[in-house]
Amino acid sequence: MPIQTINPYNNQLVKSFDALTEKELEQKIAKAHQAYLSWRNESIETRAALLHEVSAIMLRKNKELAKLITLEMGKLIAQSESEIEMCASVYKYYADNAAEFLKDKPLETTDGSAFIRYTPTGIILGVEPWNFPFNQVGRLAAPNIVAGNVMMVKHASNVPQCAAMIETIFRDAGAPEGIYTNLFLPGEKIAALAADDRITGMSLTGSEKAGSSLAEAAGKNLKKSVLELGGSDAFIILDDADIDLAVAKAVLGRFNNMGQSCTSSKRIIAVASVAEEFLEKFTSKISGLKVGDPMDPTTKIGPMVSEEAAQKITRQVNDTVKDGARIVVGGKRIDREGAFYEFTILTDIPKGSVAYKEELFGPVASFYKVKDIEEAISLANDTGFGLGGSVFSKDTDKAIEVASRIDTGMVFINQNVASRPDLPFGGTKRSGYGRELSPLGIEEFVNKKVIRLP
Ligand code: NAP
Repeated sequence: MPIQTINPYNNQLVKSFDALTEKELEQKIAKAHQAYLSWRNESIETRAALLHEVSAIMLRKNKELAKLITLEMGKLIAQSESEIEMCASVYKYYADNAAEFLKDKPLETTDGSAFIRYTPTGIILGVEPWNFPFNQVGRLAAPNIVAGNVMMVKHASNVPQCAAMIETIFRDAGAPEGIYTNLFLPGEKIAALAADDRITGMSLTGSEKAGSSLAEAAGKNLKKSVLELGGSDAFIILDDADIDLAVAKAVLGRFNNMGQSCTSSKRIIAVASVAEEFLEKFTSKISGLKVGDPMDPTTKIGPMVSEEAAQKITRQVNDTVKDGARIVVGGKRIDREGAFYEFTILTDIPKGSVAYKEELFGPVASFYKVKDIEEAISLANDTGFGLGGSVFSKDTDKAIEVASRIDTGMVFINQNVASRPDLPFGGTKRSGYGRELSPLGIEEFVNKKVIRLP
């Protein structure tokens, strides 16, 4: 993909950037490695102070940063501002808690004594997607930088100004050169970097195809990898659910960020006794919303990330309808320039159809009516993905029982899935492996070294 900003509101090219040459790339890796050799010896307080400053700068520049997000990937401006706040809170969380998370852990031994010491390993290479251009990076950079690693990030080619801005923020916060490096590179250049001994870990958030390519290269070179991939989260509504609450959370869960979140509530599964009431209220909540410029705070439906994304969701919906599904509302492009697509609900979705099998990365909810809990669980698990899920019920024990039988990395009760600094984030099955955020996120790329005493 060319490295460029195209405003999805009008599909205009705004700015282009050149990819790094081989020589420039080598210079950046060498600088990052040099930086690591010093950074690993800095105290955790010094490293935490840097993250505090990064967090503070983000909050100070919230409006400017939010505008960049909206310009490059079309997120509604209020949601862009929320992303910046969330991201700043991730940097603050690790700044506040890293010393505790990385403190020596004594081990029980039958004789002598031993403990685990967490030590950094080197350069961590992150490959990041455009859908939360600041927050996706923060989730990986914050724990690693405070742990004494250094970061090189190849960001998605369609958010180059956000990518460059993150490097600027680190520099402005006082980070020595090489602690955080932005790499303008095409995806195909990433696998080869796995062979570089100075790079000790690789993490990718994105599609299965890109994830598998990175993991293959990492594995071949015996490097640790973490993959945060796609999802098709089930949102299960049981017969005793608070329907108004479920409707409100489903609107947020499915349509926030124009449905372009890995943990969007993509498959809504309601038991028969409440299905009609839910569908009617859900449909009414997403009808008649104001379409327009995502920079305008009164807009409720903005563009998707790109023309290609709008074309792909159009194909997926049309193919599912050809397979026998029915459109409850929406189901087509909005007739104006830009990457617009209607808020859409599909139902009567046949098993094996496109919407049944594939991730719908856009504003399209798949609605399923099932006869009981067993059918809901079985449908929820009938997918290759295993990222998140939700269960709605007033009976907490019953909801937990259902949650424990859903094969995903995260299940939220009476809420849509949302990322928080203090909760582990990640999936199972084809949604990837490893975790970001929480104490688990800081453990992925550190050496858990045993020190044994007589
Ligand atoms: P994508 O095409 O895989 O892009 C993600 C990143 O991977 C970009 O930086 C991309 O660079 C890079 N890339 C592409 N091909 C590559 C390759 N062969 N080797 C190395 N890197 C490569 O993903 P997307 O379709 O834009 O993003 C949406 C997907 O990400 C969805 O499936 C979504 O569910 C998933 N996602 C998952 C999480 C999570 O935490 N689990 C969070 C957000 C999104 P270019 O832009 O240069 O192609």
